[in-house]
Amino acid sequence: MISRRFESSPPAPGCFAGALRRAPLVGLLALASPLRALGSDTLAVSVEPSTVSLGGLAVVRVGGHGVRGTFEGKPLRFFTAGGGGKAALVGIDLEHPAGRFPIEVFAGRERARTELAVLESEYPEERLTVPPAYTAPDPATLRRIEREQQRLAALWERSGAERSWRGAFLPPTDGAPGSPFGLRRFFNGEPRSPHAGIDFRAPRGAAVRAANRGRVALADDLFFTGKTVVVDHGCGLFTLYVHLSRLATRAGALVDKGQEIGKVGSTGRATGPHLHFAARVGEARIDPAGLLGRDPAAIGEGGTR
Ligand SMILES: [Zn+2]
Repeated sequence: MISRRFESSPPAPGCFAGALRRAPLVGLLALASPLRALGSDTLAVSVEPSTVSLGGLAVVRVGGHGVRGTFEGKPLRFFTAGGGGKAALVGIDLEHPAGRFPIEVFAGRERARTELAVLESEYPEERLTVPPAYTAPDPATLRRIEREQQRLAALWERSGAERSWRGAFLPPTDGAPGSPFGLRRFFNGEPRSPHAGIDFRAPRGAAVRAANRGRVALADDLFFTGKTVVVDHGCGLFTLYVHLSRLATRAGALVDKGQEIGKVGSTGRATGPHLHFAARVGEARIDPAGLLGRDPAAIGEGGTR
């Protein structure tokens, strides 16, 4: 219901990572109008949901202008939300520790603080067998892996300043979801990173579509993920499409929701044709199932006014 309501959301104004936007006039205005002095115009911040599981997504909402903020000391990327306030996504990485973590926001000389609670989560194990090159790579391959990891790490820092997505996210292919998010994985008996996405069962060559509007941040052939597309939806939100047999877009392209960007395949470390679909908020690996059928900009909207 919520996703339908926001399906026709208006063009999204820009987001900004706070530090880029300051409000130098606020101090002068406070001097000029004593009735609006500090404390009479307190900054209100909320986060919904206030408790999330690993891989979960929350939205920080703040009323006011020139808002900056951080989660665990890292900048939040605010966009203008329905109703005129500012909102920013917070993603909880699937290996994040449990506990309570601070969210701080600032506007001029005002500041406010709240907390996000992260729950402990348990995931089943999955054991897979792949060619030995994927668990015991040679030195040249190790250097390639390192280069690719650095390249990806740099991507998560450079999300577009505009919120590009519109309304709910769509499934990226027609197949049924298979392996879920978070499985603790063993390849050839050795523990490796947990499963940071969901797998759709689909035949080789089936169309892979952008789950929402965005800018292609990467379309390339990588060692572990094979032919891979990363779409930057702005304000820190990314989706990834992995193990493709063919790329049908290129880096820098603006893609629409539902636009074909490649074909299902089994390139990289895959045991057979399927689509591995993943999502990030900055560097945090989140459960992409939490995006499907939902507009993340609408999380908690209406509950805070
Ligand atoms: Zn997968």
